[in-house]
Amino acid sequence: MEQQTTFKDLGLSAKMLEAIEKKGYQHPSPIQAGVIPLLLNGDKDIIGQAQTGTGKTASFGIPILERLDPSAKHVQAIILAPTRELAIQVAEEIQSFSANTAKIQLLYGGQNIRDEIMGLKRGPQIVVGTPGRVKDHLMKRKTLKLDNITYFVLDEADEMLNIGFKEEIEEILEHTPEQKKVLLFSATMPKSIQDIVHKYIGDHDTVSIKREEKTNKNITQVCYKVNERDKFEALCRVIEVEFDFYGIIFCKTKADVDEVSVKLMNRGYKVEGIHGDIEQRSREKTLTRFKNKTITILVATDVAARGIDVNNLTHVVNYSLPDNAETYTHRIGRTGRAGNKGEAISFVSRRDSRMLIFIERLIKQKIDVSKLPDPSHVIEFKKKRLIKNTKEMIDSEEGKYYLEFAKELLETGTPEQVVSALLKEGYNTEFDEEHYADVKEDSRTVASGPNGQRRLFVAKGRNDNMSPWTLIQFLERETGEKMWDVGRIEVLREFSFINVTPDDAEVLLAIFKQKNPRKPLVVEAKQKTNGWGGGRSGWGFRWGNRRGGWERRDSRGVSNRSGRRIGRSK
Ligand code: ADP
Ligand code: MG
Repeated sequence: MEQQTTFKDLGLSAKMLEAIEKKGYQHPSPIQAGVIPLLLNGDKDIIGQAQTGTGKTASFGIPILERLDPSAKHVQAIILAPTRELAIQVAEEIQSFSANTAKIQLLYGGQNIRDEIMGLKRGPQIVVGTPGRVKDHLMKRKTLKLDNITYFVLDEADEMLNIGFKEEIEEILEHTPEQKKVLLFSATMPKSIQDIVHKYIGDHDTVSIKREEKTNKNITQVCYKVNERDKFEALCRVIEVEFDFYGIIFCKTKADVDEVSVKLMNRGYKVEGIHGDIEQRSREKTLTRFKNKTITILVATDVAARGIDVNNLTHVVNYSLPDNAETYTHRIGRTGRAGNKGEAISFVSRRDSRMLIFIERLIKQKIDVSKLPDPSHVIEFKKKRLIKNTKEMIDSEEGKYYLEFAKELLETGTPEQVVSALLKEGYNTEFDEEHYADVKEDSRTVASGPNGQRRLFVAKGRNDNMSPWTLIQFLERETGEKMWDVGRIEVLREFSFINVTPDDAEVLLAIFKQKNPRKPLVVEAKQKTNGWGGGRSGWGFRWGNRRGGWERRDSRGVSNRSGRRIGRSK
């Protein structure tokens, strides 16, 4: 694993390291790790790009402090920032590392100019200011001299151009010596910046930190909402329709690993399981077999799978979702590597559905709910595979193995009769739709009821000064979450009912459960409450049956991933 860079590695002075430690920074951010050494050792101009909040200020502020001469009483560095607030922030950040050895003067509009002039007379080494005010001091009042600067910093350059400071910036630049380092920092690099770069930036290094992708674009993520007891059947169907499944199936417990791997083995898959109770040597052997594809399915717990580096997995399956959302991203990060496509499949039972929401929040994207391939579809695949395998056998020598016996068998009936009997003998009911176990795709895990919303009971009513409006405000305050798309609200004397989106429902239920596990203030509304639903008898779980209307079950809709047929029949 890659060792994380430390501030010490960057070649900073003991004094600076002390200041950094005092500030509580443990590791340099990527932009800092990139820019600081270049500024300390190199002599080129610098263009630094990294998203907001990644510590760009310290990336130039620290080396400037290291390199300036505190005994010299002239301006050695000028930093331009787009607004007064940003200028103040930059000055404060730099000051916090300087242990008062360097003097910093702020210059921005709206501040008393006399104070600024006084400050400039005291001989600051660093000036931080907004372009308008700096230009004012420099050109109109001549109270600022930049003849001897070493560093010219354009901070938040994109913002400065947005605000329209291009002219001022260029005028200020014209008043600086040829010999200086220009440092340009920005969260984005719009075309307009290129102009400045061409005109004013010479030989330079660029440090560009890409926005960290939470999830890899090569990984398709889907989930199937099924009951706990149907998970295995669902898993088999999903694996069955993949021609080249090569993946890890993650389970929550060791017992699950054992059960799933044994059951898969019984169905003829090349599979083994690993978990902490299995002897180390045996685990290593399993891993070797997995790596050389003697087995193509590995069933594992998170702990046992740690450190497995197989690069070309086609699938990662979450038989159960992990206990925390970070683990999910670690799990699925094992596929879609090295530019390959990968698929992450999760089976989400009711027990998992809350975690799904936390995961979606972490990865900042919705995971498509997919529909299981139904038996006819699975059988179609199995038949195709058998035909393909049979052809291959005939083409190879292997197909001749039973040739004599085959002749004998063919005398017992027509060829069709014989093959059919053999299929029954060899595959029993595997190609018979009727013999497939039903999988109930669990509509209860997601929305049901009007507009796909869920109805919650809140133990606060008019007696607690609740109105529909204050109820929403109350819920938002208590959860720190915005409640979108609130549906029908009923405020009664002692309590209230509110319709919210399934996601919001999960969040509300989870948060209030955390606040008071015994008697949460918000719970799922019971069915068949009087006066609700316009005479409908309990809409709660109406859509649980297999065929009927399940496609309406999710407000997100049911999505077909491209490349896989999902329909029940052709
Ligand atoms: P940017 O200019 O890239 O938007 P800032 O320089 O304003 O980011 O820094 C954002 C926040 O991160 C500030 O509060 C700063 O004190 C803090 N920060 C900067 N570098 C580090 C670090 N290495 N470790 C921890 N916090 C840091
Ligand atoms: Mg900044």
